[in-house]
Amino acid sequence: MATEEIRKKVQELRKEIRHHSYLYYVKDAPEITDYEFDHLYRQLVDLEKEYPELVTPDSPTQRVGGKASDDFGKVRFRKPMLSLANAFSADELRDFDRRVKEGLGVNSVEYITELKIDGLSMNLIYENGSLVQGLTRGDGRVGEDVTANVKTIHTIPLYIENAPPYMEVRGEVYMPRKSFIALNEERDEAGLMPFANCRNAAAGSLRQLDPHVTASRNLAFFAYALGDMQGLEIHSQEELLKQLEAFHFQVNPNYRKWDSIEGVIKGVNEWEVKRHDLGYDTDGMVIKVNDFAQQNQLGATVKDPKWAMAYKYPPEEVETKVERIIVTMGRTGVLTPSADLTPVHLAGTTVKRATLHNMDFIHEKDIRVGDHVMIYKAGEIIPEISTVLKNKRTGKEEIFEMPKTCPICGEPVHRIEGEAAYRCTNPNCGGVVREKLIHFASRDAMDIEGMGPSVVDSLL
Ligand SMILES: [Zn+2]
Repeated sequence: MATEEIRKKVQELRKEIRHHSYLYYVKDAPEITDYEFDHLYRQLVDLEKEYPELVTPDSPTQRVGGKASDDFGKVRFRKPMLSLANAFSADELRDFDRRVKEGLGVNSVEYITELKIDGLSMNLIYENGSLVQGLTRGDGRVGEDVTANVKTIHTIPLYIENAPPYMEVRGEVYMPRKSFIALNEERDEAGLMPFANCRNAAAGSLRQLDPHVTASRNLAFFAYALGDMQGLEIHSQEELLKQLEAFHFQVNPNYRKWDSIEGVIKGVNEWEVKRHDLGYDTDGMVIKVNDFAQQNQLGATVKDPKWAMAYKYPPEEVETKVERIIVTMGRTGVLTPSADLTPVHLAGTTVKRATLHNMDFIHEKDIRVGDHVMIYKAGEIIPEISTVLKNKRTGKEEIFEMPKTCPICGEPVHRIEGEAAYRCTNPNCGGVVREKLIHFASRDAMDIEGMGPSVVDSLL
């Protein structure tokens, strides 16, 4: 039996671990080393092993390992998760402003703008501070229970101090671009189809039967709203965002208050360019009337609230031409086709190459050398071909075929049963050795300064 003293020790350890993981994951400002953190965590694990009766679902040790319900049970929301009406131009925002002022009978209104994160909306239910349920948005009235999977997301608190008895926190689960790029590289190497963008990757990662898989995907969460709640007095969106921060949620720092719609439009235009520098995808800006009393006065239509708008940025796609298709080698011998493109400007950079992933991808889209294509940035970093402009074909386009022999060593190339990838299986292939050495010396591995591809080439 656990003594009072042990119970107290467990409580203290949990509090300390929560504090340090908040500093690490949300604030990105750790105060202790990973080693010290692991030591605290280990002490808690050991105590919980010795006294299993002390384990609670909101303990920091319980992030991974809970069982996912195999059918993601359906749950009805107490308050629906409404979608927002869209605006695509400054004039549509001015119309919105006019309707708001008429509805309220006032001459000026305070607005809050927030970046619209391209992820999945989530409703998190907290009872007496403990996270008890995580639900996807579903159709807005009934969501899917993904509790075991959202618990693996480190920026979602499992326990909140000084929380009201009941509270629903709403926000966006998203995949940072860095995680997205690493995940797709892994999938290319494993001969799996890549995810089209960060949002699809986040959705796929959240609907996993095994929470260990979700945990490995490095998802994150931005909080921006409350659903149903008891025991909280909040008067404006600005106050709400500050309260969510105080509850140790990650709130996107780029929100801003404006006293006119012209200010809002200025902010919207500014972020259309700046958003490409962020570490995650955004597809627009959300504009809300700041004052909650005014929000209530305006109310909602059947479909969406009258006090908010989602301004959508146009997708950035440009036309270019596939000059040729080349094959590069990865460190496991996988041959990856890429398209050399006529250089073109896209979302702030000049693009000359797009990844084609594998032969299945090329066949599915029917990409040929000489084709005119539309390209966009997946995860807003790596260019991808979205569509082939088949009406622009002249008949001179050439179908690409994977070489039968390795372009580096000349040994036969094999396609492994059930995989999309082609590999050079020669263990002494110069290409594989080269890629392995580059990886070995890279920052993510041994971090050997100065040993880049050209030094590796000289060495070989
Ligand atoms: Zn080879």
